[in-house]
Order: sequence, then C-alpha cells, then structure tokens
Amino acid sequence: MKKYYIKTYGCQMNVYDSHRVATMLNDMGFEETSVLKQADLVIFNTCHIREKATEKLFSDLGRTYLVKQERALEGKRTFIGVLGCVVQAEDEQIAKRTGYVDFALGPLTYHRLPDILRKVLTEVDEPIIDTEFPVESKFDFLPENTSQGGCSFLAIQEGCNNFCTYCVVPYTRGVETSRPVEDVIKEAKILVDGGTLEINLLGQNVNSYHGEDANGKERNLAYLLNRLNEIEGLKRIRYTTSYPADVNDELIDCHKNIEKLMPYLHLPIQSGSDAILKAMNRRHNSSQYLDIIARLREANPNLGFSSDFIVGFPGETDADFQATLDVVDKVKYIQAFSFKYSRRPGTPAAIMPNQVEEKVKKERLTILQDKLFDYQTKFNQATVGKIVPVLFETKGRHSGQLVGRTPYMQNIHAEVSKDYLNKIVDIKVESATMNSLSGTVVKV
Ligand code: SF4
Repeated sequence: MKKYYIKTYGCQMNVYDSHRVATMLNDMGFEETSVLKQADLVIFNTCHIREKATEKLFSDLGRTYLVKQERALEGKRTFIGVLGCVVQAEDEQIAKRTGYVDFALGPLTYHRLPDILRKVLTEVDEPIIDTEFPVESKFDFLPENTSQGGCSFLAIQEGCNNFCTYCVVPYTRGVETSRPVEDVIKEAKILVDGGTLEINLLGQNVNSYHGEDANGKERNLAYLLNRLNEIEGLKRIRYTTSYPADVNDELIDCHKNIEKLMPYLHLPIQSGSDAILKAMNRRHNSSQYLDIIARLREANPNLGFSSDFIVGFPGETDADFQATLDVVDKVKYIQAFSFKYSRRPGTPAAIMPNQVEEKVKKERLTILQDKLFDYQTKFNQATVGKIVPVLFETKGRHSGQLVGRTPYMQNIHAEVSKDYLNKIVDIKVESATMNSLSGTVVKV
C-alpha cells in the first residue's frame, strides 16, 4: 500500500482542501502517514498570504529532498507535489527553484490530481504544473466529502472580488464563485450522517455567497443558514470569513433567530483608520463597521467578535494606529489575529510609497497585541463559574483529558471519558488564561 503525507499551511480553506485531497488519495488506494520518511508521496498544501509562509514551504521542501535521497539509497521512490496559493502565485518557479518537485497544482485544479498522479507515477519525468482557472468547478469532480469528526468544514464559496490592496487571494483563488444550494445541503447532510455536530461554512468572502437554488434562483448566506438550520442532528453552525460591507439585514436577523448559529463572529476590520482603510481599498470606513457591530449586537446582545488586524500598512501614521486602538476599545474583541504588514509581490500596496519601518511595525504590533490579549483574557476570566456546552474535538496532553471548544471558540480542556470525543458536554469553567479554559463535567 502506497503511503502519502500531507502538510497544510495557512487558512481553514486549505485544511478543507487537504481533507478533500486525502479523500481522493484514499479512494485511489493510498494510505495516510504522519511520518515523512514512510511516505511514497509527499504533498504540501501552501499559503501565500505572508512572506514567512512561502519561505516555510521552501525550507520544508529542502528537508523533504534529503529524505527523498535517503529513501532512494534504500531503493524507494518518493514523489513530491505542491498545491495551493503559492503554486498559483509562483507557477513554474516552484519547479525551477527546486528542481525536484514532480507536480504543482493551484487551489482550483486539485480535482485533477488522480490523472496527474497516474502520469507522474508511470510516464513523465518532467514536472507537471497546472495553474489554470478552470471552467469546471472542482467540487463537481471530487469524491463525496466525509465527516471530519464533531466539527467539519464545508466550503460554500471561493475567491474574492474585493481586491484589497495588500491581499493575494483574488490572484490565487480567482473571482468569487458560490456552490449551488442543494450541493451544499447534500454535503452538510452527509457530514451530519457521518457524526458531525458542528459545521463551519468556509469562503474567502463567505457572506457574499450567491449560490443558485434548485430553481436557478440566486440565494444569499442568510437563506442557506436557514436551510441548514432545518437539518436534524446538526447542533451548531458557524461561518468564516466575512466581509463587513456584505453583512445585510437578513444575515443580522439570522443571529437573532437561529439558535444553532454560534454567538461568535469573525469580522475583520484590518485597520481603524479611514485613511488606511481607503488605501487598503476596503469598501467600508470605521463608523460603517462600528454601525454593523452595533446592529449585530442589537440582534443578539450575547455576540462575541473577533477580527484581523494589519499594523504598519504603507503610510500608517501614529494617529492612524491610534484609530485602530480606539476601535479595539469600542468593540472589545474576544479574540483577534494581528500581523505586521507583509509586502506581497504583485499587490498594489507592495509598491506604495511610505513603507513603514520594520522597527515601528514591531512596536505597534506589541502595543496592539497587549490590548487585544487583555480583552481576550478578561472575556475568558468572565467565563469562570459558568456552565458552557463544549464540543470535544481532540485528546488533551494529559491522559483522561479532552480538548474542545465553547460556543465562543474558546479552547477548553477537562477530564472527560474519551467516549465523549466529538460530543457536546456541559462543562463548569473552573479557571481561565488568555488562550484557554479548564473545567469539570456537569452533565454528559
Ligand atoms: S476581502 Fe479578504 S480575501 Fe478578499 S481581497 Fe480583501 S483581504 Fe483578501
């Protein structure tokens, strides 16, 4: 039995794509291994969002090449493939830069992997590169999805039309496409039948979903959420990543009326400064963003928010940065992801004047993170003493311990029988830190 090893970088969409690739390889008779040296086929599913992510890939490729040489001394062949956004951005460069990559497929063509593998394994010794933006949807050619445990990802939309000036996604994932409503519902039912209790709907711009229903009518995310809400056995629904300007009244109503919709929403603002938001080509300013937060809170006062932040965007002044800190104080995020601006080749911001010094970026990131971590810690500590329903997803570091997530995506561990893996259990929160909670079982 041939063995394969997959390493995934980056976002949840890549995790989902890697899971679909694994399903295809299993169907071809391959078996997954987590030991690189055992693998006959090594696949890297890549992220191009920041420089560091790309460099990580090339150092992992170098390490894998050494393993390939060791295996060759034992008479074993090893095939190396690269998937994802770095391929779409770098194209043939991947093969040229390494000289030992056998195939490279963009994020929209990995459904062609079985044919390409057959060629690579038997015929050709030239690297096969496929970075087409295909007419056909890969979802129509993938084997049926399978449950990923208590919580499963489900991609409903791909690509983005927003062209934020710092972002590579529109160039690597293409224009926005949405999957038909009935395909999404069918996949959701398969996941629930397979034991999934929570579905996380994925899209680079998930709330601009516009899939067709069975009558060819265009439907939005609110419609889809209401349809998913009807699925028996599905206990929790989440969706990510949203674009503030695409939050409409119907979606806000969903946060009021759909109990299965978790009270946690990731709504990236990136910067609190209107001047910087304009330079980023974001279709909203800070007061429009805060107005959306206020309307969501009116609909559901228990909603907790997270966001993405970029500090040190070209032209960012101290006053711009202060505006970002002010937004954080107004929203009091329960979680957040914050980064220094990273120049991405081919994006408009990369050639903008007034690039901010690395030292200043670093200082601002520290200040911002101190504030964000403080709100996150306070929110977690306010949960101590409460009873929360936890979906346990993995085994903990200690024996007899499981790790799961609360409705607010808080990490929580507790001493629970492993029979409750992929189950929802009521837990009393006993203690909290910035990154996690711990608790005891109340009711199973
Ligand atoms: S909305 Fe998100 S994915 Fe789309 S271009 Fe902007 S940052 Fe990138």
